[in-house]
Amino acid sequence: MNRVAIIGAGECGVRAALALREHGFEGSIDLINAERHTPYERPPLSKPNTDGVSLKTISGAADLAQKQITHHCGIEAQSIDRNLQQVRLSNDEVISYDRLLLATGAKPRPFLVGSTVVPNLHYLRTYDDAIRISDQLVQSRRVTIIGGGFIGLELAVQARLTDAHVTLIEAAPRLLGRAVPSDIASLIEARHRAEGVEVICGAGITDMSANGTITLQGGKAIESDLIVAGIGSLPVTDIAAAAGLILDNGIAVDGQLRTSDPLIFAAGDCCSFPHPLYDGKRIRIESWRAAQEQGEHAARAMLGPVDDYQSVPWFWSDQYELGLQIAGLSTDASHTIRRDIGENCFILFHLASDGRLLAASGIGPGNSVARDIRLAEMLIAKRAHPDPDALGDPATKLKSLLTA
Ligand SMILES: Cc1cc2nc3c(=O)[nH]c(=O)nc-3n(C[C@H](O)[C@H](O)[C@H](O)COP(=O)(O)OP(=O)(O)OC[C@H]3O[C@@H](n4cnc5c(N)ncnc54)[C@H](O)[C@@H]3O)c2cc1C
Repeated sequence: MNRVAIIGAGECGVRAALALREHGFEGSIDLINAERHTPYERPPLSKPNTDGVSLKTISGAADLAQKQITHHCGIEAQSIDRNLQQVRLSNDEVISYDRLLLATGAKPRPFLVGSTVVPNLHYLRTYDDAIRISDQLVQSRRVTIIGGGFIGLELAVQARLTDAHVTLIEAAPRLLGRAVPSDIASLIEARHRAEGVEVICGAGITDMSANGTITLQGGKAIESDLIVAGIGSLPVTDIAAAAGLILDNGIAVDGQLRTSDPLIFAAGDCCSFPHPLYDGKRIRIESWRAAQEQGEHAARAMLGPVDDYQSVPWFWSDQYELGLQIAGLSTDASHTIRRDIGENCFILFHLASDGRLLAASGIGPGNSVARDIRLAEMLIAKRAHPDPDALGDPATKLKSLLTA
């Protein structure tokens, strides 16, 4: 194996390229980046920053060059010829590969009124999006955010820093959907209301005019200078679909992150994989750490056989001074145990009917829940059945449950 091509230079693609070198691969690495920037991290784009949007680089041009990673910056991969093992680029260059990694990420889900895509809406996925929104925020007195998920809520924090009147509209009855327990969603909602954000849940949008007037079911009208939609993401699969690879909620891969073509791998936000910790259920994870880990895993899998990918999913978000962390998947949990740690600080342990710990969600000031969530993550990875009384008792150290 002498030639690796990687489509997408986000967290996943770049980590894969670096990991190939760390594991001694000496062949050519072509890193194809549709964006015209040095590869950068996305989480800072929605985190409040009084100094404006900054580009946090994953790996700079000099570092990539020093590692002999050819960075095709601002160039899109347009098609894959699986028979010839070649990728055609937007500048007409053709790259040959022995192994190909698809790390094409995700894109914002478009907001529709009825079946019509609404024009002139802002979305946040890229550095360029963040710059546009930040420029507009300075001039906007009335900001409306559609979608009460993580990105919408983090943007609301950012918008309040400019003192704008912020309205957040969520179609579901509560914020943050099913992945986040209602105790945590309520605390976050209360925190936003205390900061002056007008939170409207359970409200469908029936109309949106070109001048920025939103009409809600029931007739309420909301005037806005800036509207940003954050209603989730869709995996970027066009190039994989055109190449005839199997899709299933993203590009379908096996535990080794291999697609239906044994020479092509996929990892990060764009892929779904069977998770051994959750009965082999196929899941797609959109998280910074998963993108990193899967990039590294795919790199090793391209070099030779590896164990199946089975890291515990982990996600964090910052809401004002509160830090939220979630480890594992709670969807199949039958009951929850709460450990109160302090004011606005608690952890919820989500257990299966047989007592196995499936997930833990925590919230608290700053990094206060980080250590316990890390320990919970280790218990989840061990498929532990911890004593429920001990889980609920803040006096019992979680570390002691690891050895129990
Ligand atoms: C604003 C924001 C805030 C976030 N905050 C958090 C957070 O707080 N915590 C957390 O855990 N996660 C967070 N995330 C999620 C996390 O950033 C993503 O899960 C992670 O970036 C996914 O990495 P990726 O490499 O798989 O995909 P991406 O980062 O999407 O990178 C994919 C790249 O591939 C490129 N590409 C696609 N098709 C082609 C093609 N044909 N040719 C060339 N290039 C192509 C795309 O342009 C893109 O640059 C956040 C995401 C966003 C957008």
